[in-house]
Amino acid sequence: MSESSVSVVKVIRCIVCPTGCQIQAIPKGSDIVFEGYTCERGLEYAKQEFYEPKRILTTTVRVEDGFLPLIPVRTDKPILKDRLREALNEIAKTVVRAPIKMGDILIENILELDSNLIASRDLAKL
Ligand code: SF4
Repeated sequence: MSESSVSVVKVIRCIVCPTGCQIQAIPKGSDIVFEGYTCERGLEYAKQEFYEPKRILTTTVRVEDGFLPLIPVRTDKPILKDRLREALNEIAKTVVRAPIKMGDILIENILELDSNLIASRDLAKL
């Protein structure tokens, strides 16, 4: 098949290693095939990114009795990209109380996405 007749649905830059291979998702019949990866880890990454992209969510949470009013937080595992907005809304309703230690779980299994929201730093009491 010539380059010009290939219709690429999506181009995915693999971020698993610094090589940064550019992987194409190409429709073939009722299927999608992936081209441009150099190793199996890249193929796995491309499939995940194509069918079910996930991201680590980073944001802040309001704190009561802390020497700062907000604490930076992140999910301890990537969560589905299309649930990020919902997770942010859930986090916006949350207020935690100082003192907090880095790594403390502030929301367990957020939205049942198999990921905890954890503190990214220590935060002492006021
Ligand atoms: S496909 Fe393999 S070699 Fe290429 S960037 Fe991804 S992990 Fe690295």
